[in-house]
Amino acid sequence: MEHTIERVPVTTLVSGAELALTIHTLRGGPGPVVGVSDAIHGDEPIGVEVVRRLARYLCNHGDRVKGTVRLLPVANPLAYETNTRNTVLDHTNLNRVFPGDADGWLTEQLAARITNHFLVDLDAYVDFHSGGAYPIVDYVYLTNGPALSRAFGSRLLFHPASPYAGTTATIAESRSIPTVTVELGGGLANEEHYATRMLEGTLNILRRVGILDEPPKPAPEQILLHEMAIMRPHQGGILVPEVHAPDLGREVAGGTVLGRIYSPYTFEELETLVAPFPRSLLVLLRDNLAPIHPGSFMYMIGNAATAEILPPEAG
Ligand SMILES: [Zn+2]
Repeated sequence: MEHTIERVPVTTLVSGAELALTIHTLRGGPGPVVGVSDAIHGDEPIGVEVVRRLARYLCNHGDRVKGTVRLLPVANPLAYETNTRNTVLDHTNLNRVFPGDADGWLTEQLAARITNHFLVDLDAYVDFHSGGAYPIVDYVYLTNGPALSRAFGSRLLFHPASPYAGTTATIAESRSIPTVTVELGGGLANEEHYATRMLEGTLNILRRVGILDEPPKPAPEQILLHEMAIMRPHQGGILVPEVHAPDLGREVAGGTVLGRIYSPYTFEELETLVAPFPRSLLVLLRDNLAPIHPGSFMYMIGNAATAEILPPEAG
């Protein structure tokens, strides 16, 4: 097993600090090449730790690695430093500006480096995300690499009718690289069990691709969502959740109260958020007594009525 660390310079900041991409290459003989990245959104740090554990696992099991794994643990070091979704310096969401622009805004320059130095010559790409500082989430996108998406092992999968433009996945898929975008964990507390699952799911993708020379675990029965409601409040205030972290993935009846927003000043109830579909699957929620801003990501709810049940794979 050969492990190299490459620094790809992006620019020099006003502080004098150098902004660079740090890319690990773990090479274990001939075989496919898989890329794994995290912290495209800076407030989704769980995957950075999972990438660290993945590197350690591969180094410790080098005799079983048939191929190359390229790791970009922190795609946006500026947003990771400030624990924010966007780059604070230019108020930009890195995961909407791909392929980037070498002559553009700072975040666009960063995107261009990732496009040209990381999202190249890959046979598969795994893109880690989580819910961010407050929400927690649990699903995996299924797009151009269905067997790999299933191999991660999450119960809920989502095939979006109109995916976001300008993401790393947009570029990878335009290059015909099978891509798995993982959404798992968040809330920045009690994430250890999500980290454990994220590592195990990624190892199973590596088995499925043929990088790890051991049989993949067959995918369990899974639910493929085609329709997802994103719910954002119209009023800001104190959020009091009525569904909680252990409820993620659960089906609730339409009209079930998910959370209430109270005024921290008059204490009146400003808004009640309820499950929108007759059969609503809880995909993303908040489980903290924190203030919430109008328009924030609050719930993602899948429609169970239009979902497909994917039978378990044969073992
Ligand atoms: Zn994200």
